[in-house]
Amino acid sequence: MKTKDNPFKIAKERIEKIAKFLGIEDSIIKILETPQKEVKVSLPIKMDDGKIKVFTGYRIEHNNARGPYKGGIRYHPDVNLDEVRALALWMTYKCAVVDIPLGGAKGGIICNPKEMSEAELERLTRKYVDEIYDIIGPKKDIPAPDVNTNSKIMGWFMDEYSKLAGKISKAVVTGKPIELGGSFGRETATARGGQFVKNAMLKETGRKKPLTTIIQGFGNAGSNYAKLVYKEDKDTIIAISDSKGAIYNPNGLDPEEVLKHKKSTGSVINYPKAVTLPREDILKLECDILVLAALENAITKENANEIKAKYILELANGPITGEADEILRKKNILVLPDILANAGGVVVSYFEWLQNLKEEHWSKEEVDKKLKDVMENAYKNVKEKAEKYGVDLRTGAYILAIEKVVRAIKEKCF
Ligand code: NAD
Repeated sequence: MKTKDNPFKIAKERIEKIAKFLGIEDSIIKILETPQKEVKVSLPIKMDDGKIKVFTGYRIEHNNARGPYKGGIRYHPDVNLDEVRALALWMTYKCAVVDIPLGGAKGGIICNPKEMSEAELERLTRKYVDEIYDIIGPKKDIPAPDVNTNSKIMGWFMDEYSKLAGKISKAVVTGKPIELGGSFGRETATARGGQFVKNAMLKETGRKKPLTTIIQGFGNAGSNYAKLVYKEDKDTIIAISDSKGAIYNPNGLDPEEVLKHKKSTGSVINYPKAVTLPREDILKLECDILVLAALENAITKENANEIKAKYILELANGPITGEADEILRKKNILVLPDILANAGGVVVSYFEWLQNLKEEHWSKEEVDKKLKDVMENAYKNVKEKAEKYGVDLRTGAYILAIEKVVRAIKEKCF
């Protein structure tokens, strides 16, 4: 990673700039950008061939002024301390934007799950829980899925924690299988939340559906978003990418079919009803909305000038660098920022946690309805802040969030 694209540096600079604009004192700004706790663990596990391999894991707890720490766990070869710090910081402000009483955290393990068996992944997950057991808990720090982690992994997580705690502790982790206390609608929550934000923006700007759409990243967030807007909003998906490459068909792609192809071949590339392109090429194609659902730094100052989309929806965390943001603003491209656009995941995680604590089960319809209310309200509040201060939606979202976190810090500590 180039130093200038260090996501934690970018995240801190953004907080500092906006907090200074709001007249917040330096000592509080320091609290707003500094993680409260950082844990690094060494995870030796026996691989299937009998050899011992030692992995490194992190859990970063950024801020709990507004409630217990909350944030996903990423399994990826590129996981590093500053990435996890940035992801933890963003969680604090995301929870504040959607007004749920939770703080921010994130975890990660440096590993390549694509080269590991299910049994190895289970041993790694259980070892990670053993090592971070002391700092997590239903009222302390509640993890969830992120890149390359899923409901099965969250199920192992809950089981291992419960064994150590000597009691069933469903509320220690969210994104679990339904049978283990997971919530209906969690699997699609990030995508569903993004869809609600997109439609709230269209309604407010008077722009009509459907939209020609490009999807970068075809995992949980990207593929579910494509399926939802294709089916319900009749949006035309003209291009899709994953880590191996991209596909393009100006007449539209059926995301269900592409997903079947990806499941059987391991990638979207070589899908027969489209042309295959290098993965970065589709970012520069003309479209109404570009949906970023992969990793950080997808749009930097190197490619920002070539973006032709009218809108960008950030389902990924931190996909646009600060410099790129400036360029996109000058080009009048409307960015629906990550701490608003992808907050659906943590909102339904919050619903799952509440259901676990109260021993309740809500229907899919109930979850979707509650999520819609939260996301539409958050969009409205962000928009109001942006208009009040004459700033873009990202800055509006941060102003909304920072004001709430600062109030909580001051009430609690000073
Ligand atoms: P995932 O592992 O299910 O999917 C990630 C996808 O991105 C995969 O298809 C992968 O092939 C693709 N990818 C990786 N690098 C790429 C590249 N350079 N170009 C194109 N595609 C690339 O992960 P996910 O859960 O869908 O998360 C994706 C993003 O959404 C992450 O930034 C994550 O932090 C964010 N997010 C996820 C959730 C959630 O609930 N899963 C919630 C909020 C935010």
